[in-house]
Amino acid sequence: MASDGWEEYRRRRDFRRTPEPEPGGSGPAGVFVVQKHAARRLHYDFRLSLDGVLKSWAVPKEPSDDPRVRRLAVPTEDHPLEYAGFEGIIPEGGYGAGRVEIWDRGTYDLESGSPDKLVFRLHGERLSGRFALVRTRVGWLLFKTRRQ
Ligand code: MN
Repeated sequence: MASDGWEEYRRRRDFRRTPEPEPGGSGPAGVFVVQKHAARRLHYDFRLSLDGVLKSWAVPKEPSDDPRVRRLAVPTEDHPLEYAGFEGIIPEGGYGAGRVEIWDRGTYDLESGSPDKLVFRLHGERLSGRFALVRTRVGWLLFKTRRQ
């Protein structure tokens, strides 16, 4: 089967059992979503649509609108764009089993992007303004920038 870049996403899921979307459709561009995910360990999945996929990071603590608060953000596998609308319950025994709910969602404008640093402006309900995702020695950090 030809590689379409979704092998890891598919490999982790049984689409006969999970209500999560299968890759292959199309979705809106320039969106971000934060999904509160009550998996074995509660976390917040931060996703940005970029290059036709949702680039994804798992944030162990609630993202903050306060520039003094920096959150660790662990990169996870790309998700399909339509995942930005997903809410539901991933069944027991499946990958990421637990409730997924949209914690915040909106559009964003990318200000700059490099392999180690993304700067963008979020237009959400809970998160709005200029944010950055930066790769540091301790891992990726997500935070609102002091300069807005
Ligand atoms: Mn998750």
